[in-house]
Amino acid sequence: MKLLEERIRKDGILKEGNVLKVDNFLNHQMDIELFNEMGKEWKKLFADKNINKVLTIEASGIGIACIVAQYFNVPVVFAKKAQSINIDGEVYSTKIESFTHKKVYDVIVSKKYIGPEDHVLIIDDFLANGCALQGLIQLVEDAGATVEGIGIAIEKGFQQGGKIIRNKGIKLESLAIVDGMNPETGEIIFRKQKQS
Ligand code: 5GP
Repeated sequence: MKLLEERIRKDGILKEGNVLKVDNFLNHQMDIELFNEMGKEWKKLFADKNINKVLTIEASGIGIACIVAQYFNVPVVFAKKAQSINIDGEVYSTKIESFTHKKVYDVIVSKKYIGPEDHVLIIDDFLANGCALQGLIQLVEDAGATVEGIGIAIEKGFQQGGKIIRNKGIKLESLAIVDGMNPETGEIIFRKQKQS
């Protein structure tokens, strides 16, 4: 998506350790006009899917997911990160290793909010090694629900997550795919995709 790529070039900050900071429009301050355009784009890309729920993970997925969900007229559920949990039978749970914080979280979703009748669009801000997405997919599968697709704002294509998810046969639509970035020169290389 051209608009997102342009914004990453303008405001993205490249950090050591393959981290792209986009606090100016996505992860701290949020540009809702941009989120709206992203929502419209995913609505087009998933037009053939019958989606009745959006699932994301706290915290930074929530803002995007809420805007996106308006285009599908469906509720948003966000998976919660818990430091330690008593699994009491009321929740589905999985473990996710955070790429940015290098920490393993228990992640839960209440059984009340996801079940076999659900056709889920998973939304998140970044895709790196795919740990977060694999955890979310696991939660959906444990609930007997169906993953209809995954929408990612920024995929770091030089990390393995995209390949892992696409190999599962799941429809994954990343609005910008960064295939290379150099923190010394500030250069960012985007994968060529069908652009809108
Ligand atoms: P994964 O589980 O795919 O390795 O990482 C995905 C999660 O890590 C995302 O939900 C995002 O919060 C965070 N993340 C991974 N890479 C980056 C990055 O380069 N920049 C930012 N801001 N977050 C990232």
